Amino acid sequence: MSNTDSRVSGTLSAVRLFGVPVRFHFTFVLLLIFLITAGVGGGRSVLLDALFLLTLFVSVLLHELGHALVARLYGIRTLEIVMYPIGGVARLERMAGHKAELWIALAGPAVNVAIAAALVALMMGLTPASPESDMLERIATSNIYLAVFNMMPAFPMDGGRVLRALLAIWKGEEQATRVASYVGRLMAMGMGVYGLATGKIFLMLIAFLIYSAASQEGAASAGRALTHGIAARAAMVTEFETLPHGSTMKDAADRLLATTQQDFPVVHGDSVIGLLDRTAFLRGMAGDGADSYVSGVMDRDFVRIDPGMDLAEALPLMTGNTACALVMDGEKLLGLLTRENVGEFLLLRRMGMQLDQRGRE
Ligand SMILES: [Zn+2]
Repeated sequence: MSNTDSRVSGTLSAVRLFGVPVRFHFTFVLLLIFLITAGVGGGRSVLLDALFLLTLFVSVLLHELGHALVARLYGIRTLEIVMYPIGGVARLERMAGHKAELWIALAGPAVNVAIAAALVALMMGLTPASPESDMLERIATSNIYLAVFNMMPAFPMDGGRVLRALLAIWKGEEQATRVASYVGRLMAMGMGVYGLATGKIFLMLIAFLIYSAASQEGAASAGRALTHGIAARAAMVTEFETLPHGSTMKDAADRLLATTQQDFPVVHGDSVIGLLDRTAFLRGMAGDGADSYVSGVMDRDFVRIDPGMDLAEALPLMTGNTACALVMDGEKLLGLLTRENVGEFLLLRRMGMQLDQRGRE
């Protein structure tokens, strides 16, 4: 599932803006190098072109920050912003509701429209057709282009998200995603054919990227449909061992070897005080070693999941290094939710679902 990675592969390291990590996909860097070297030796001023590229890049970044900040208003964290050659992508920690998705999607293009409007206002004070005015006009035009391009109803672009959010209001999420993903692929194919007919390679590349993204989103939605409406308690591990809070790393190592378990809740009497998962275990062993106490390295901010929580909501919480969450009813520990177990559960359920369908025929 795409949202279990904490970062997109093939990205270069990040700067942080408003607490959101911004990464650059290597193809974005390749594009920059290509554009800069293609500009050298051309008739136009390289400096002006570089300046224009920089403002274009800042415009795309502000567009993505627009998404991220509106998402924050709805209490949704942005895991990262990834810059691709055809634009940026703000990866949110979880799916937004329909209304939130609508506003989050609209926020990006709205930022570009606002930038264009501000630049046009600035141009009023300048001599028409001066180099400064020309530059502002170029940047304003490209921002309008960014807004229009992103509002194309080709899922998963912003326009496609708007389309899905609107469809979802009366068709339900599953069907809305299917329709939006279909429209996205259709538009991508149209664009690809047009690019092929007119020899515009770049357009074909964009069409290909949109097509694969639309297909991926369709598949991710099918995954959510599979987990939707199932309580977390149905997929949790109910037979597990815990470690008393005074345990040493040596004790933990013994339990790790003796059982198939990889994540151990650390308890003090009846209450859970932490979680020693594999990452924490390795950190402890590499740090102070076998004689140190698990309480020194265990995760105190472990992910808690309500037994009644929908799996489709619980799974996105288990991203990055979080391979295990504790299913707790108040302070009472009921079970462990691990990715492996959820995988097995879904496999069994899929077999069960096929059996059900077979039974009906
Ligand atoms: Zn956008």
